[in-house]
Order: sequence, then C-alpha cells, then structure tokens
Amino acid sequence: MKRYERIVCSVEETLEFASQLGEKLKENDVIALEGDLGAGKTTFTKGLAKGLGIKRTISSPTFTIVKEYKGRLPLYHMDVYRLENTFEDLGFDEYFDGDGVTVIEWAHLIKPQLPDELLWIYLYHQGESERKMILEPIGKRYEQLCEEIIER
Ligand code: ATP
Ligand code: MG
Repeated sequence: MKRYERIVCSVEETLEFASQLGEKLKENDVIALEGDLGAGKTTFTKGLAKGLGIKRTISSPTFTIVKEYKGRLPLYHMDVYRLENTFEDLGFDEYFDGDGVTVIEWAHLIKPQLPDELLWIYLYHQGESERKMILEPIGKRYEQLCEEIIER
C-alpha cells in the first residue's frame, strides 16, 4: 500500500497544505482524519474548507457529530469522537454518496461504516508546532490525488 509523508512546521503550513488538497476535491470524496487530541484534525479541516471556497468559520462539530458548510462543493464535517465503536447504521452513507466532500475526525471509530475507497490522513505531534502527516490513499482516485499534491 502506498503512503505519502509530509512534515509541516506551523499551523499556517498545515492550513496551506490542506487548502491545496481542498482545491482538488470532487463530489463524493471522503477524507478520514486520525490523530491524538490536538494533533490538528480540526485545523486541517479549516484548510480544506478554505480550498473548497468556504468562507464561514469551521468549528469543531463534537456535540453535533456533523456540520454542513456551503462552498464550491458542500462540506460535511464530522467528528465521531463521542460515538465510540458503533456498528449501528447511522445513515452516514447519505453523506458519503452525496453531492459533497466528507471529512471525518476520529474516523477509525466508525470503520465498519466507512466507504471502501477514501483517503486516510494520520497526523502526529512532532513538537510544539511540527506535525507529521501520513497520507494513505485507498483506491485509484485517492492515489492520483496524492500524486498531485505531494511534490517529490
Ligand atoms: P481534537 O482531538 O480535540 O478534535 P484536533 O486534532 O482537531 O483535536 P485541533 O483542534 O486542530 O486538533 O488543534 C490543534 C492544536 O495544535 C491547535 O491549538 C493548533 O494551534 C496547534 N498546532 C500547532 N502547530 C500545528 C500544526 N503544525 N498544525 C496544526 N495544528 C497545530
Ligand atoms: Mg478536532
């Protein structure tokens, strides 16, 4: 399985990288974000939103599970931290198969419900403001996307 690594040294760099990804996203794209508390999942989503042309401020949807924003494409921002391991059908497919882009914080908690193809992004603390990002594309669409945004 192919993996791509990117080190960023500031919040601004995270926002910039995520925004570049956001510019390339298409309807039905699903991004799964993994990483400890404060690793930068919500920050990453803010960058993505900018790349999708969303002007509204992104805030953590922890208590609402999903928040919806209008941009070039709709963005469905989920934070499933409070769901624990759920095997119930909570209707996520409507978002994944919908007309927009879905970003999920703590995505592994709903692993059985995730689509077959998606882009995993793992965020790791490397210090105060440095983060390591590992991109793991599942499926051709996401492999191409990674090739486009990771310069080599
Ligand atoms: P939670 O698990 O609580 O949802 P999170 O993974 O969504 O956390 P954020 O809410 O994005 O994390 O918080 C990241 C914190 O780390 C912010 O306070 C941010 O300022 C700080 N930070 C420092 N450097 C970076 C960086 N390079 N990228 C992202 N965030 C950074
Ligand atoms: Mg968060």
